[in-house]
Amino acid sequence: MPQQYVLVLNCGSSSLKFAIIDAQSGNETLSGLAECLGLENASLKYKLNGNKHTVSLAPNAQHAQAIAVLVQLINDNKLSDQLIAVGHRVVHGGENFTGSVIINEDVISAITKVSALAPLHNPANLVGIAAAIKAFGSLPQIAVFDTAFHQTMPSKAYLYALPYSLYKEHSVRRYGFHGTSHYFVSGQAAEVLQKPIKDINLISAHLGNGCSVTAIKGGKSVDTSMGITPLEGLVMGTRSGDVDPGLFSFLSNLGYSAKKIDNLLNKESGLLGLSQLSNDCRTIEEEYEKQNPQAILALDVFCYRLAKYIASYTVPLGKLDAIIFTGGIGENSHLIREKVLNLLTIFGLSVDNDKNLAARFGQSGVITNNNSGPIALVIPTNEEWVIAQDSAQLVKEAK
Ligand code: AMP
Repeated sequence: MPQQYVLVLNCGSSSLKFAIIDAQSGNETLSGLAECLGLENASLKYKLNGNKHTVSLAPNAQHAQAIAVLVQLINDNKLSDQLIAVGHRVVHGGENFTGSVIINEDVISAITKVSALAPLHNPANLVGIAAAIKAFGSLPQIAVFDTAFHQTMPSKAYLYALPYSLYKEHSVRRYGFHGTSHYFVSGQAAEVLQKPIKDINLISAHLGNGCSVTAIKGGKSVDTSMGITPLEGLVMGTRSGDVDPGLFSFLSNLGYSAKKIDNLLNKESGLLGLSQLSNDCRTIEEEYEKQNPQAILALDVFCYRLAKYIASYTVPLGKLDAIIFTGGIGENSHLIREKVLNLLTIFGLSVDNDKNLAARFGQSGVITNNNSGPIALVIPTNEEWVIAQDSAQLVKEAK
């Protein structure tokens, strides 16, 4: 059978992440990132068959120009004949999508309708879809939603205690994000535990620039820390996570506009706001080792909030089999994993220092040494692989 490749696109407001993935093996032939789109220093980096290259784009180049370079790359390397679909990461699907779908006019209008709930992400995803349709018109385009995995949450988990009319009339509820990642790592955890996913209960912590934790019962999301937008919940790189809603009127009385409050909570808070150093966990860890008090404070708040969320998610699960760490921080920071697990000794968790130190840079494995009770695992996420698999499956079903 000829190779079947899926082009996976993940459009941010000023970036475009792409990969060409073999739908059978998961191997990446081409992967890359266009950054600073719309800015003077727009550029595109890619890795082809293991070799790295950089292309400087025209100043202020947009997504369409980055996609034009990508099309050229695909054609020059004779990859187009094997392409069977373009899979798009779409951040917010609202309540409309419980799984991935082939994109048509109705899907585009449903994504457009919920754009107000993810103003930083959905408009960029739509730009990517439009550019890809133009460039690869003959290929099926697939939307894979960050929110879809969490559509199994019960109403007691997704409703805010607000007037019910806000939910009915304006879809104000908790949606949750990073669903593709939580789904992927939960499947991998079932393999490590050597049990069917339907028989196990997991808590997965996706810790990257954005952070969320999900309670997964028998393979289904039953609660998650992000809400109507990806701001609720854990401390993140620049996002505050949970704050008292009373803060809004307090800050507005101080003269802060709604836009300024939004910017403060999304871009100036989290690890960056607390540490006053950086949103990059590596920088904060370096300073933590030097006993910098702001770095210690930032990591203490980060880990304490995360441990509290993990402990609280044993409520919907009843029994817990494993805690999963993933994302740039979860996969690499032995310090954060150790600090979090040391706050959870009530569950009998005991960190294995050697295993915890070894689990980084793509290495997965168990990092606890208790013989009974839940274990903790490090599992590198692979959202692109899920997008490629879903896309290939939908194309097969449509034939
Ligand atoms: P992501 O959004 O999943 O790419 O994750 C980005 C975050 O992972 C940033 O805060 C990085 O500082 C963090 N990160 C990446 N590598 C490491 C590492 N070796 N140690 C600690 N944090 C890391």
